[in-house]
Amino acid sequence: MRKPITDLIHHSYVPPATFGAPQPGVYKASTVFFADVAAMRARDWKTKAGYTYGLHGTPTTFTLEERLATLEGGTECLLVPSGLAAISLVSFALLKTGDEVLIPDNAYGPNKALATGELANFGITHRLYDAMNPSDLASKLSERTRLVWVEAAGSVTMEFPDLPALAELCRARGVLVALDNTWGAGLAFAPFDFNGTGQGVDISIQALTKYPSGGGDVLMGSVITRDERLHRAIKLTHMRMGLGTGVGDVETVLRSLPSIALRYEAHDRSARELARWLADRAEIAQVLHPALESSPGHANWLRLCGANDLAAGLFSIVFDVRYGTEQVDRFCDSLTLFRLGYSWGGPISLVVPYDIGLMRDATVAPWPHKGTLVRFSIGLEDVDDLRADLEQALSAL
Ligand SMILES: *Cc1c(COP(=O)(O)O)cnc(C)c1O
Repeated sequence: MRKPITDLIHHSYVPPATFGAPQPGVYKASTVFFADVAAMRARDWKTKAGYTYGLHGTPTTFTLEERLATLEGGTECLLVPSGLAAISLVSFALLKTGDEVLIPDNAYGPNKALATGELANFGITHRLYDAMNPSDLASKLSERTRLVWVEAAGSVTMEFPDLPALAELCRARGVLVALDNTWGAGLAFAPFDFNGTGQGVDISIQALTKYPSGGGDVLMGSVITRDERLHRAIKLTHMRMGLGTGVGDVETVLRSLPSIALRYEAHDRSARELARWLADRAEIAQVLHPALESSPGHANWLRLCGANDLAAGLFSIVFDVRYGTEQVDRFCDSLTLFRLGYSWGGPISLVVPYDIGLMRDATVAPWPHKGTLVRFSIGLEDVDDLRADLEQALSAL
């Protein structure tokens, strides 16, 4: 007689297969069973035709990958444990010793840090280019350039480059273009089809940590392509590096994703209202928000995102030079609804002061402002309450 514990572990009950509910099922697995040895031998982990091992995908991760690829207009998607892991996966998959990668000087900072760290250790060089000056990119493309990163809007400084022009320069030279599409989230513009031209980037990565999660409680990234061979190359590296994602986190993003368009619009509406209000304040020298006419690259934003009329709920302000670091720190500390913290895309508004002088390479494009920069991520609070909070903190200057 078998003991009950064995019967419990090898239980014969199988629930009926017709279960349907608004959210897809959640499958957690390292081990995945095969029906027989022949099936085990025949299984190709590189396709989504079946399952091999938890690290190579489950019904749950496949479902999120397919939905994200649909949102961005790609055909293939890989999930990774963070937005930064998406950047490093693309770099490690496509670059080898002797290659050069070009990165915009206003890129997400850790992308540049990866280049000066691990990529340099592997004999891969990088150069920074001025994203707002396509001829600077043109002059830096060389025989050794294997990959060009683009990002719109630029991290923290929010300039909006002419993405179609940058991508066209690379395409003409046969160089792959990878977009950090965290800001656009697949909503503000179509990364693989700029303005319905059928032309776009080769690879779009996103920090799902931001709007797709929307809760400030998940770290995850995606790498989306629409070229089977390119996808295969990245997938091989993904497997060899062991980049799995926790299924609990995948479930959370699946739960948030259906509301992403509504949330993005709500963040956008409040951010634009507050950005315009701050632009009229005497304490502020410049508001950096691509939907504002006075912001660098506004015309590029209008051309690419004007049809959808969308921008993320993110903007920066540069204080008038008469306010020193101590006063701006006091402004940030005086805010009560805005919390001090990194990342963005969640329900709670966030603020971070930055020293752009330390972040930018003055030889690429000198940063034109002298005042201190503060970046806001606008959450889902009532916009009048946020404005009142900004107003009381400005009076603390
Ligand atoms: C946050 C962010 C990342 C990195 O995402 P993590 O999940 O925090 O690693 C990459 N690019 C941009 C533009 C980001 O804002």
